[in-house]
Amino acid sequence: MNVYEIVLKELGEACKILDIDPGVYELLREPMRVFTCSIPVRMDDGSVKVFTGYRCQHNDALGPTKGGLRFHPEVDLDETKALAAWMTFKCALVGIPYGGGKGGVKVNPKELSRREIERLSRNFIRALAPIVGPDKDIPAPDVYTNPQVMAWMMDEFSQLKGVNVPGLVTGKPIILGGSAGREEATARGCVIVIREAAKTINLKLDNATAVVQGYGNAGSAAARLLSELGVKVIAANDSGGGVYNQNGFDPVALKKHKDATGSVKGFENCSDISNEELLELECDILVPAALGNVITSKNADRIKTRIIGEAANGPTTPQADEILDKKGVLVLPDILANAGGVTVSYFEWVQNLMHYYWTVEEVNQKLEDYMVKAFKNVYKTYQETEADMRIAAYMVAIKRLDEAMRIRGWV
Ligand code: GLU
Repeated sequence: MNVYEIVLKELGEACKILDIDPGVYELLREPMRVFTCSIPVRMDDGSVKVFTGYRCQHNDALGPTKGGLRFHPEVDLDETKALAAWMTFKCALVGIPYGGGKGGVKVNPKELSRREIERLSRNFIRALAPIVGPDKDIPAPDVYTNPQVMAWMMDEFSQLKGVNVPGLVTGKPIILGGSAGREEATARGCVIVIREAAKTINLKLDNATAVVQGYGNAGSAAARLLSELGVKVIAANDSGGGVYNQNGFDPVALKKHKDATGSVKGFENCSDISNEELLELECDILVPAALGNVITSKNADRIKTRIIGEAANGPTTPQADEILDKKGVLVLPDILANAGGVTVSYFEWVQNLMHYYWTVEEVNQKLEDYMVKAFKNVYKTYQETEADMRIAAYMVAIKRLDEAMRIRGWV
């Protein structure tokens, strides 16, 4: 099943339980708009390379479309469409006034110099300029893009328009109108819902064990925030390898090691562990925080955890969901568990529009309120229906989308 077929399957299941209007279902099945472009980039050696870029605007019933831009060799149209649809459901689920969008460039940024990445970022946003803007579609960081990329994009677009447009993108550096708390927001949101989920299954976080797959922005911050709640982080990995210590290790020291050496590999007092072994370690909390499609029918049976907090987008396939549900693993689906990022993006955009900025304490408190409410809504639906947590999350989102589309007169 490709990733877009997965979205359609999950959407279909949720709509069936809700007995949703067929028109609403049809509207949610296909994106409103897809955009493909060729981006020429002058390389450092003087040659020109042309990269393919995409932006998909899935549905804007609740507000302007919102979602990240990724730079990754595996970016394609189907993946972009699936990720855009997930943004529609994510924003509707947490109750922020956005539709869903997503985009990306098929490129391996690790093979590009900083200057080449800058030119790629600037040329990509120029190509997207007719279809993005603070009231239309608001990009943000995603896999292998970061605040610096957002800064170049905001600068390029502002120069093109002749005015400063900080609300064009979120996830900017603070000096350019970024929000306090945005960098760790995905992880913080994820840890808030893990904490709430732990209460429902009587799991004490103090001395509970966690495994983190992926040690980038979301994974490393989730590990730190979990350890602040008393959780022992026992294993973590990245594309370069994995490390494991049953007694736990300091996630902040591991982040420093990764920043210094480029990988978590070789961290003190730890043994090496493969990606397959890491996912199958016995633990209380498993946080997939890398790419999609890592928990599948092939390994779900061997996963030995109590809670999965999906910081990544699309880490678990529907077949794996079924197996995990039968085993009694509580899966906190991506559209809930990683919604903290876009929620603080929303706060950033609000601050940009009013030109007035909040403290990190204010931002974190607001994030806490949104995430706890979203978790409670999903958990209530999960308890009241036959749906698993993922389908319950879709149901909460689809109810809002259904209401908005009907009141607008689309169906
Ligand atoms: N890329 C993040 C996500 O998948 C954040 C999107 C945003 O902040 O707009 O949720």
